[in-house]
Amino acid sequence: MRTAEIKRRYLAHFEANGHTVVPSAPLPAIDDPNLLFINAGMVQFVPFFLGQRTPPYPRAVSVQKCIRTPDIDEVGKTSRHGTFFQMNGNFSFGDYFKAGAIPLAWELSTKPVEQGGFGLDPEKIWATVYLDDDEAIEIWKQQPGMSPDRIVRRGKKDNFWSMGIPGPAGPCSELYYDRGPAYGPDGGPEVDEDRFLEYWNLVFMQHEITDVKSKEDFTIVGDLPKQNIDTGMGLERIASILQGKDNLYEIDEVWPVLARAAELTGTTYGKSGHAASESHPDDVRLRVIADHVRTSLMLIGDGVTPSNEGRGYVLRRIMRRAIRSMRLLGWQGQSFQELLPVARDCMSPSYPELAEEFGRISTYAYAEEDAFLSTLRAGTTILDTAITETKRAKQPQLSGDKAFQLHDTYGFPIDLTLEIAQEQGLEVDQDGFRRLMADQRARAKADAAARKTGHTDLSAYRSVLDQGGPVEFTGYAEVSRESRVRALLGGDGEALPVAGEGDYVELVLDHTPFYAEGGGQQADTGIINVGGGRLEVVDVQTPVPGLIVHKARVLRGEVRTGEAGFAEIDVTRRKAISRSHTATHLIHQTMRAFLGESATQAGSLNAPGRLRFDFNTPGAVSPDVLFDVEQQVNEVLLRDLEVHAFITSQEEARRLGAMALFGEKYGDEVRVVEVGDYARELCGGTHVARSGQLGLVKILTESSIGSGVRRVEALVGIDAFGFLAKEHLLVSRLAELFRVPGEQVADRVEQTVTALRDAEKELEKLRAQMVLGGAGALAQQARDLGGVAFVGTEAPEGAAGNDVRTLAQEIRGKIDQSRPAVVAVAARANGKASLIVAVNAAGKSRGLSASDLVKGALSGRGGGNADLAQGGGVPADQVPSLLAAVEKAVVEAA
Ligand code: ATP
Ligand code: MG
Repeated sequence: MRTAEIKRRYLAHFEANGHTVVPSAPLPAIDDPNLLFINAGMVQFVPFFLGQRTPPYPRAVSVQKCIRTPDIDEVGKTSRHGTFFQMNGNFSFGDYFKAGAIPLAWELSTKPVEQGGFGLDPEKIWATVYLDDDEAIEIWKQQPGMSPDRIVRRGKKDNFWSMGIPGPAGPCSELYYDRGPAYGPDGGPEVDEDRFLEYWNLVFMQHEITDVKSKEDFTIVGDLPKQNIDTGMGLERIASILQGKDNLYEIDEVWPVLARAAELTGTTYGKSGHAASESHPDDVRLRVIADHVRTSLMLIGDGVTPSNEGRGYVLRRIMRRAIRSMRLLGWQGQSFQELLPVARDCMSPSYPELAEEFGRISTYAYAEEDAFLSTLRAGTTILDTAITETKRAKQPQLSGDKAFQLHDTYGFPIDLTLEIAQEQGLEVDQDGFRRLMADQRARAKADAAARKTGHTDLSAYRSVLDQGGPVEFTGYAEVSRESRVRALLGGDGEALPVAGEGDYVELVLDHTPFYAEGGGQQADTGIINVGGGRLEVVDVQTPVPGLIVHKARVLRGEVRTGEAGFAEIDVTRRKAISRSHTATHLIHQTMRAFLGESATQAGSLNAPGRLRFDFNTPGAVSPDVLFDVEQQVNEVLLRDLEVHAFITSQEEARRLGAMALFGEKYGDEVRVVEVGDYARELCGGTHVARSGQLGLVKILTESSIGSGVRRVEALVGIDAFGFLAKEHLLVSRLAELFRVPGEQVADRVEQTVTALRDAEKELEKLRAQMVLGGAGALAQQARDLGGVAFVGTEAPEGAAGNDVRTLAQEIRGKIDQSRPAVVAVAARANGKASLIVAVNAAGKSRGLSASDLVKGALSGRGGGNADLAQGGGVPADQVPSLLAAVEKAVVEAA
C-alpha cells in the first residue's frame, strides 16, 4: 500500500468517526520560541489542551509534518528514525477518552484492506500500558484477537507523557507490530524495539502535574476537569510494515532517492541483515543520504533557508551531511542536482506545492551545495595534513588552534572538523577552539567600536556609564530638550573639565533627543548650546550599550562638564531619515508579499531621502516584480495609514506576527512599529506619523551583493520627486530634439541608432570600393625594373589599414603571374606613414622578399613574410622616400 494511500485511509477512518480534518502546520514552529520545528501532531493543538483557547471542534485528525533533530544520529542505524517524518494523529478535546481511542486504533489497524483498513494480523500486535493503568488494560483485552500475554506494563520513562512543564499529563499506551524472529529475539517490546516496532502511541491526558523536576520526577496534583486524547502514528513506520520493508528508508517515498544515490556512487545496497543491529556502514550512509535529501526538500519547501543560525543551521548541517556521505561513497559531482528532483517526485503526490515551487527550492539547495563544495576543496587538504601530523606526533587531540584556523581562514565549520577527525579516530580540543572564537569575537567588537568612536579602549565610556547610568533617548517624542552635560571626553578618551572654540569633543548628556546610529538608521545631527558655548553635533554613536555619545565641534565659546544646556536636532534631516525608515519597512513587507516569507531583511541603510534595503532571496528580482512592489508601496502611502509604535513582550510581538530576524537577540521587552495593518516589525528607529508623509517612493536599482542576497536602493519624498522631475525634463528635451511626443522617444532613438549603424556599414563598403577600384589601373601601370614588374603607389586619403593591405594584394593579383612582381603601397594616417609590400611567387623565385624590402626601407622595423609584409611609424612626409627606397632595392636585386 503506497504511503499516500495510507495517509488517505487514516484521515478517512477518523473523518467517518466524527473528526474534523485539519491540515499540517508548516515545519518551523513559529509560535513557540523554545521549539525550532514541529515535532509531533499535537503541537498545533497545545492551546486547546492547556485550556488557553476553546477548540472549534471536539475531535480532530491530521497528518503533521515533523522534524526531530535529536534523532539525527539514529538515522540509518535503527530501522525506524527519520529526521523528517509524518505523524498521523487523532485528537479529542474533552470528548472521547480511552474507551473511544483504543477501539478506534484497533479497528483501523486490523480491519481488512478490502474494507479500508490496514489489515494487520491481530496476533502480531502488542500493546504497552502504564504500570497502574488497569482501565486501559481492560479495554485492550476486549479487542477482538488481542491476548492478555501481549499486553505489557511499562514505567514512567516509556509510558507516561507530559510536556516537561506543569500542566496536563497522563499515561500512554503504545501499539507495536511483531516483524518476526528474523528481526530479533522473542519477548516483546521490552526485549527488542526493532523487531517489535512501535508504530502508534496513544496518550491519555487525564492528570494535572506540578513540581516538574524531570520527565520522571513530578507530582500529580489531581485529575483534569476535561480529559483529552492525543495520538501519534508514524506514517513511515506503518508504511514500512504494510510495504513489507525492513526499515523506513526503503518505503515508496524514500527508496527512489536511496536507489539513485547507490547508482551514482556505484554502491550495492543491501549488505545488511534484516535486524537493524546488522546494518552495514555503506547501507547506513545511503539511508542517511536518502533521509537528509528528503528532509532538506521539506525544510526549504516550508521556507527555511541555509544559514549559520537556528533553523537555517539545522538545514545547513543536514545538507552538508548528505553531501559528505555521497563523497565518502565516492561521488565527486553535484549531489543535490541528481537527488533533489527524485525526492520531489516521491513527495509531490502528497505535497503538490513542492513541484510548483521547485524552482525556488532547488535554487537554494544548489547554491548551498556549490558554496559547501568550495569550502570543502579549500579545507580538506589542510585538515588531512593536520590530522596526519597530529597522529605522527602521537597526540590524541587535534589542536584548538588548527580547528580555529580552519574555521577562520577557510570557513570550515567546526562540526565538520569534529566529524572528519572522529572518523580518523582523533578528538578535537574543543575548549581551545571555543576560547579562540571568544577572543576573536571580543576583538571584532572592540575593533568595530573603535572604528566608530576612535577609541579601542572602552573603559572611559564604561566609567561614564557607571557613574550616571544609561542615557535616556527622548527623540521618539521630541526634537529638542534641556539637559545637563554629564561628561566631555577628549581624543584619547580622557575626561575634560572644559572645551574651547574649535575643539572636537565627545559629549554625553543626561537625556538626549539625538538618535545614535543603529538599526540601519543614520545618526541625527544638530546643535547643542551650553552656557556661553555652542556645539555642532556631527555624529552620534552608542559605543557601549546604554551610553549615547555626541561627537561635536565647539563653534564658539566654552563648554563645561556639569553645565545645563539645550540640545536641538536638525529636524529637516531627521524627518527625511524617518521617511526613509518607514519606507524600508514598507518595502520589506511588500517584498515578502511578492517573494515569500523567506525574503527577510539582511541589512539596511536609512539616510535622508534615500534608503538601501538588503534581503535574502535566491535570484534576481524581475523588473515586473519590482514595478509591482513599487506600485503597491505607493498605494500604501495613499492610504495614509497611521504609524504607531509600542512596547510589548517578546511573546506578544511574535504572536502578532511582527517581523524579526531569526536569532536576533532582544531583551524581554521589545518595541514594535506598525504601519496601520500593513506592516509590523520589531524596530528601535524613528518613523513618520502617517504613511502619507512619505509622499513618494521610487525604487532605483536592484542588484546582487553576494550569494542569495539582493539589494534595492530607493529614493523617498522630495528626493524621489526630484529624481522623477529630472527624468521628465530629460524626456522633454529628447522629445523636442527628435520632434516626437515623449512616449515615442524610445522608438525614435532605436530607429536612429539602427539607421546610423546601417549608414556606417554602407560607408565602409564604399570606401573599400573606392580604394580597391583603382587596383586594375595601377597593375597596368606596372613599370619594368630589370624584368621585375613594380608598382609603387600611395593609398587614397582615409583608407583603413585593412584596405591598404587588400589593395596591395589586389594589385599583385592583377599582374600576370608569370612575371616577377613587387607591389609597394604606402599610406598616411594620423601623421604617420605606413608601408605594405607584396611579392608574387615568380618574384620570390627571383630572390625577392617582401619582409626584406620593408625592413630595408624602414631600417629594420616591420614584420611579415616573403609574400607580404608591413611596417610604419615614421612621419607621414616620408611616404615618397619609403616608396623610392623599395624601388631602389628592387632595381639592385634585379
Ligand atoms: P521511538 O522511541 O521509537 O523513538 P518515540 O517514543 O520517540 O519513538 P513518539 O514521541 O511517541 O515516538 O511519537 C509518536 C510516533 O511517531 C511513534 O509511535 C512513531 O511511530 C513516530 N516517530 C517518532 N519518532 C520518529 C522518527 N524519528 N521517525 C519516524 N517516525 C517517528
Ligand atoms: Mg524517539
